[in-house]
Amino acid sequence: MANHREGLAIGIDLGTTYSCVAVWQNERVEIIVNDQGNRTTPSFVAFTPAERLVGDAAKNQVARNATNSVFDAKRLIGRRFSDPLVQSDINLWSFKVIEGPSDKPMIVVNYKGEEKHFAAEEISSMVLKKMREIAEAYLGTTVKNAVVTVPAYFNDSQRKATKDAGGIAGMNVLRIINEPTAAAIAYGLDKIADSIGKRNVLIFDLGGGTADVSLLTIEKGVFEVKAVAGDTHLGGEDFDNRMVNHFVEIFKRQHKVDIGVNSKALRRLRTACEKAKRILSCAIETNIEVDSLYNGIDFFSNITRAKFAELNMDLFRKCVDIVEKCLSDAEMDKSCVDVVVLSGGSSRIPKVQQLLQDFFDGKELCKSINPDEAVAYGAAVQAAILTGMKNEKLQDIVLLDVTPLSLGVEVLGEEMSIIIPRNTATPTEKVENYTTACDNQTSILLSVYEGERAKTCDNNFLGQFRLPGIPPAPSGVASINVCFNIDTNGILNVSAKEMTTGVMRNITITNDESRLSSEEIDRMVKDAETYKVEDDEYRKKVKAKVALENYAYNMRNTINDEKIGAKLAPAAKKNIKDAVEQAIQWIDDLQLVDSELYDDKLKWLENICNPIRSYGKQ
Ligand code: ADP
Ligand code: MG
Repeated sequence: MANHREGLAIGIDLGTTYSCVAVWQNERVEIIVNDQGNRTTPSFVAFTPAERLVGDAAKNQVARNATNSVFDAKRLIGRRFSDPLVQSDINLWSFKVIEGPSDKPMIVVNYKGEEKHFAAEEISSMVLKKMREIAEAYLGTTVKNAVVTVPAYFNDSQRKATKDAGGIAGMNVLRIINEPTAAAIAYGLDKIADSIGKRNVLIFDLGGGTADVSLLTIEKGVFEVKAVAGDTHLGGEDFDNRMVNHFVEIFKRQHKVDIGVNSKALRRLRTACEKAKRILSCAIETNIEVDSLYNGIDFFSNITRAKFAELNMDLFRKCVDIVEKCLSDAEMDKSCVDVVVLSGGSSRIPKVQQLLQDFFDGKELCKSINPDEAVAYGAAVQAAILTGMKNEKLQDIVLLDVTPLSLGVEVLGEEMSIIIPRNTATPTEKVENYTTACDNQTSILLSVYEGERAKTCDNNFLGQFRLPGIPPAPSGVASINVCFNIDTNGILNVSAKEMTTGVMRNITITNDESRLSSEEIDRMVKDAETYKVEDDEYRKKVKAKVALENYAYNMRNTINDEKIGAKLAPAAKKNIKDAVEQAIQWIDDLQLVDSELYDDKLKWLENICNPIRSYGKQ
């Protein structure tokens, strides 16, 4: 039994605003309450002249100690200081963030009278440690192992930094899993017995600061993420702000003073508003009461659920737009969604639920799992599976993720040749066949890119390598297989093999620096939509050019072939040779031109080369 407990592993949902910890024991998941009796704990760390506070205690004193109270570390983790998102977030925070070594953002606080600098990983590690302690107090034993969740859009660097945070907290992070996948596991565990055949599940996660929608398919215990969409600045705090602004206006009307300029008053009002907002999820009206809010004036007011919904209606609608975006990315009609799962504390808001239900034409939403606990619940299930807990309810669950951007190589004309399309489930392996572009080309340079644009220069460069040892031959003869493999950890391996000689080279893309943040990914996907017409036009031109080029090189090879060349009258042979060379010259001398010009030139060349074609067929 002692050994058994030693291997015990917990599931931690490390949220932007709130964290939650759960454990599998007694054949079920238990959500663990903290020392304040709460099932979720604020992801807050505060430094005072005397001590360091984490969780509720840190959040409760924020009005008195704003500059030394740190939150939102998840928005910084694994990011660079120069990241535009970090720069815009810094303006919203009451604590100071400066540029550290290697463009790393460092949080500056005053702790016990001294200036201290902390990396986001360190702050997150303090929250993780708190969650670990909550679990240890409840379980009465030390806990070493944990499964920690991250948003599906987190890149390699953000995942690694989160894992590091676990390490700093003295924990062994068994695995980092995606939040929607965890919510789906929580759901799947309940329903797995009766899920016969494939089910499409939409996870709607609306938390404190972010909105994330994911579409998964679940079949025989296999969870596959089909698509993800989201907004990194949309959630409960925005709804709080709307209510705060509303009451600032009311205070102004009542007392002719603007408390909007007094940060301390604002923070106290915000705390009261968050409380009221939670109440409005089950009551249709509530009071707001803040003693001595400003200059000794007590504030007392009232708000209805309907008013709260009206203040936020545009934001609520935005949440539904994200659902639409996710479905269109997955190329799925909403009628094909079998189950809609609610996740995140803000998905408790009745109006949000109603808009979502209306969007799905009245479909019942799945709320059987507490929305703000679903992610930790799933993480606890995964932790139990990974530590080899045997239980018939714990079936083998295989986790699959998707590629957020298309992956491919550069081909002639700086064109992006996609090998693994965006939103492909991973792990995956895809092979494409390529050939040489020039005569007697003995090596080929493979440049790997990610992105949705037609031209590689508009996409993100990931790395390159050269494949040598290609036997000299006319262009288009060599056969090179390029293989893209993404493993279970999301690491991309690219290899190229010349098929006649078997010469092979490969590259592993692990460089965090070169991978993109979710905002960059979003921007690239949006750009691709904006520039679709331009890109289609470009692809058409390149296609026409390549067709002409291939034809010309083919004809050149054919005419030089003794068997066919000898059959032609010398004059006809010269005529064709000249035309082929002229066409090749024409292509080389020109920048990319309209596809019609290439088509015309191809027709012209085909006419001249007709005699060869008949010989070639013999
Ligand atoms: P995170 O976004 O950090 O993962 P959660 O999913 O726990 O965190 O969501 C936290 C948000 O949910 C906060 O903004 C909180 O105010 C909000 N919230 C929690 N409970 C309720 C409720 N009953 N009604 C409305 N909002 C709620
Ligand atoms: Mg969350």
